[in-house]
Amino acid sequence: MKRLVVLGGGESGIGTAILGKQKGFQVFVSDRGEIKENYKKVLIHNEIDFEENQHTESKIMNADIVMKSPGIPDKVTLIQQLIAKEIKVISEIEFAVEYTDATIVGITGSNGKTTTTMLTHHLLENGGLDVGIAGNIGDSFALQVAQKSYENYVLELSSFQLDGIDRFRCHIAMITNITPDHLDRYDYDFNKYIASKFRIVMNQIKDDYLIYDADDEVITNWLNLHPVQSQLVPFSITKELNYGAFKKGGDIIIRINEEEFIMNTSYLRIQGKHNTKNAMASMLAAKLLKVRNEKITESMSGFEGAEHRLEKVIKVEGVTYINDSKATNVNATYYALECMDGSTVWIVGGVDKGNDYSDLLPLVREKVKGIVCLGLDNRKIIETFQNVVDIIVETAGADEAVKVAHKIAQKGETVLLSPACASFDLFESYEDRGRQFKDAVRNL
Ligand code: ADP
Repeated sequence: MKRLVVLGGGESGIGTAILGKQKGFQVFVSDRGEIKENYKKVLIHNEIDFEENQHTESKIMNADIVMKSPGIPDKVTLIQQLIAKEIKVISEIEFAVEYTDATIVGITGSNGKTTTTMLTHHLLENGGLDVGIAGNIGDSFALQVAQKSYENYVLELSSFQLDGIDRFRCHIAMITNITPDHLDRYDYDFNKYIASKFRIVMNQIKDDYLIYDADDEVITNWLNLHPVQSQLVPFSITKELNYGAFKKGGDIIIRINEEEFIMNTSYLRIQGKHNTKNAMASMLAAKLLKVRNEKITESMSGFEGAEHRLEKVIKVEGVTYINDSKATNVNATYYALECMDGSTVWIVGGVDKGNDYSDLLPLVREKVKGIVCLGLDNRKIIETFQNVVDIIVETAGADEAVKVAHKIAQKGETVLLSPACASFDLFESYEDRGRQFKDAVRNL
């Protein structure tokens, strides 16, 4: 019996453990922290051996194969020891894909993964395909492979998931965009991070597709230097394309399979240029998988976007409150500020992953009347913007931030939470930050 060791008892770990057990592995789950109660129950119920708050080396180093949760960096000693012993260390998608013949649409990028994954799934499902969705959304891919038999999957893939692949292949790969993020995990080398994203095409063959943002120079430069096997399907909001998707006036035009399909952007409920791009990418995938044009238009108008992504909360005394808590890097916040119509009070800050805020200066100068800092260390924000914005206030909680923003904002203006930073200094997660923000707004 082969021994599968699962490092990390979170969603992907538990799914892998269940699938591994089903496929005849002797499974051991080890988590250096605590495993959530509901996951422990699942492990006990499935008679899977596990430990928490420790890693017992003797029970790990005897593995035939190790599934590492995406949260664990390669650098940690345990992983280095496994690699030195030539024990295979892979990610959940690599493990699970061996056990399904489904057609896979894999979506990666620095921003827009979740939105595009949800939208693509929505278009395919309404288009009549038998399709599952996984990766940061709902049940893990591995668990679904164990329990369901979908013919297609739409998978949101982080670079960490992609780092742990060997044979994993998607029929349709998508790279929404690439901007610096998570560089702490890539030796502060942007090229390493780009290479990690491009692993999504590594096993593609000539019948497969790569959908990508042709306006993104990081992507196009990389493609020029590193040709891929699969067929390139670009999208652009700045130029007309003979093949792929582009925007012309108020229309999205899709040119694919010798056919032209035009959809007016008024069908989109999701706002902003970035969401037009996400829509194009999803529509291309739907077209490649033969969803009918009318179905695409119809489903598009029913998609309202995901929670915490430019989510309108409510209006209070004529001021619109928007929750973009998921904006954990500068690029996401750039698009949020770009969408703002009028004068904006901007709530920003948290744990900065090496941010360079200078790209935001023109937008901030044009649109932001006040900045409310929501983080423990706000020095960089204050230094960058103190000569541009008159009002900068430091706060240390969602309630306080919302109250301060409420004082600054006037009728017709917007309060935007788009932190450009991770949330872990003051909140449990970006969801927690978004929820606390919304609660505070509703309590005004
Ligand atoms: P991810 O899963 O990659 O983090 P999300 O869909 O959760 O992406 O969106 C994260 C943040 O990025 C949100 O603030 C959202 O408004 C913004 N965003 C969404 N799509 C894009 C895009 N194509 N380019 C830049 N920012 C985007």
